[in-house]
Amino acid sequence: MYEKERQELILTLREKGITNERVLKAFLEVERHLFIPQALHGHAYADNALPIGFDQTISQPYTVAFMTQVMNPQPGNKILEIGTGSGYQAVILNYLGAKVYSIERNHNLYLRTSQLFDNLGYRIALRCSDGTLGWDEFAPYDGIIVTAGGPEIPTNLKKQLAPGGKLIIPVGDRKSQKMHILQKTGVDSFKTTIVPDFSFVPLIGREGWKIG
Ligand code: SAH
Repeated sequence: MYEKERQELILTLREKGITNERVLKAFLEVERHLFIPQALHGHAYADNALPIGFDQTISQPYTVAFMTQVMNPQPGNKILEIGTGSGYQAVILNYLGAKVYSIERNHNLYLRTSQLFDNLGYRIALRCSDGTLGWDEFAPYDGIIVTAGGPEIPTNLKKQLAPGGKLIIPVGDRKSQKMHILQKTGVDSFKTTIVPDFSFVPLIGREGWKIG
């Protein structure tokens, strides 16, 4: 279903600067409508964020594609995602062969997405907790991707990154953020690139915003 709509979305993503063919193929194959409420299925392949309940959103496809292209996960890479939400970004990473660990703080969303992954047969490790603390048990990660916007970069996430690994996180105020792309060059040294103009729901937690 919606094959034609997905092909049109791929054209839009190309126009906006997504060039990685593996990433584009993932957007063609993974059915975004399965991750949003039925009433919105007709809007699933427009390049927009959409509500998924509990005051949260599924990110805009371009944003998911941008972060995935920057991460460029290779088969077997271990990737930690903070902010499971609908599960779409986690599934895109999984499609590219990454071993995905994902944390969601909202219990209802965590339960709903766990169920969805079971139904669709995805093997993605989920946990309901404050993702600003990371997931120490499986560290270090080749990549960490944060899909909610925080006021600062959580120190635990920096620590849990493997040497050479990438941490991608939107940082700013509650309305707009800049994407911070950190590559770990030493035990506590990073090379940072900053890309402006993103808008995410707030990252809430010990090393995030204090209230929703
Ligand atoms: N990657 C998701 C985006 C969902 S929006 C997708 O593809 O649909 C971001 C999610 O981050 C929300 O579900 C929100 O509840 C969650 N979140 C916010 N702060 C968090 C935290 N400290 N730890 C884990 N999840 C968090």
